[in-house]
Amino acid sequence: MSNPSLLILPGDGIGPEVMAEVRKVITWYGDKRDLAFDVSEDLVGGAAYDVHGTPLHDDTMARAQEVDAVLLGAVGGPKYDDLDFSIKPERGLLRLRKEMDLFSNLRPAQCFDALADFSSLKKDVVAGLDMMIVRELTSGVYFGEPRGIFKEGNERVGINTQRYTESEIDRVARSAFELARRRGNKVCSMEKANVMESGVLWREIVQKVHDEDYQDVELTHMYADAGLMQIVRWPKQFDVIVTDNLFGDLLSDAAAMLTGSLGMLPSASLGLPMDNGRPKALYEPVHGSAPDIAGQGMANPIACILSFAMALRYSFDQGDEAERLEQAVEKVLADGLRTADLLGEEGVTPVSTNEMGNAIVAALDASL
Ligand code: NAD
Repeated sequence: MSNPSLLILPGDGIGPEVMAEVRKVITWYGDKRDLAFDVSEDLVGGAAYDVHGTPLHDDTMARAQEVDAVLLGAVGGPKYDDLDFSIKPERGLLRLRKEMDLFSNLRPAQCFDALADFSSLKKDVVAGLDMMIVRELTSGVYFGEPRGIFKEGNERVGINTQRYTESEIDRVARSAFELARRRGNKVCSMEKANVMESGVLWREIVQKVHDEDYQDVELTHMYADAGLMQIVRWPKQFDVIVTDNLFGDLLSDAAAMLTGSLGMLPSASLGLPMDNGRPKALYEPVHGSAPDIAGQGMANPIACILSFAMALRYSFDQGDEAERLEQAVEKVLADGLRTADLLGEEGVTPVSTNEMGNAIVAALDASL
């Protein structure tokens, strides 16, 4: 049988720097765990624009559709700020998400014990936190029509439309229930059914999917504003939260900050299953290209490495190996290693991107 295939798109800024560390981890799995991947690499974002005049070449798009998973670094940078909107680096990423139909965005909020002091919340509120926000990514108010700024009498009016079909809600609900079965078996669905019709439909369909096919999973509903309060008050009550595009955008950013630095946060965007049963999938750190520190060896590679751990779990059914990698990260943090973004304690000298990657590979070795 051929190896599973991975397309790596390092992108811009610190993207290539953090991806170089992920490469070491991928190589380790091939060498030490008999888990080899067919890895190819291509351009995205500003790097693709520089060569092709477009942030995502059609050939790259076609390859992304064929592989088992795509791993992306980050796109963007000041050099490209003045480009027309249609060819900005971010358009490359948006095209990937849209054409792969990646409707289910998984954003874990996980607090490593060694970093519990980093949160703006009290340590006992966040220590041991492990929740997952599933955000609908391809519909809702960011895409609904009509949209635009129109003239109405003597003034202008800005319009966006919140729109969800039953099937769009159904499929993202299913992905949340499936995920919950592999975790704590609880789903909390969030909308604003008290004031929005789209929220009424959302609640109804999520409940229907549950009652028909997922009665073994505990389901609760919450209004999104109350949900955000609960995330800040006592986040450990949640396992999986499923919500729409707009609320998911806000809730996942707030939840992310419970756990400390942007340099620690992975994400996955999943679509429908392909012929081989694997979902279409794109894994990427939450952070951007960090032009302020690019090229200085200061970037934290952990978000990107943890994104690969998500790929092991959700694309390649290697949950035990994903856990091994997460524990290796936990170990280097417990040993006191910190990239510059994680400095808080007095007298700690930061390690470089490269040193952090090497330490994680050494911790993987020690796990054998
Ligand atoms: P950013 O995430 O790049 O950086 C925000 C801050 O966090 C910066 O101070 C940066 O140094 C720090 N930071 C981010 N990742 C880090 C890491 N791994 N290690 C250490 N420190 C880290 O966000 P920004 O500054 O708003 O955006 C910069 C560029 O990135 C823009 O062009 C933006 O459009 C783009 N962007 C891309 C993505 C993406 O590719 N998915 C996401 C967000 C922003």
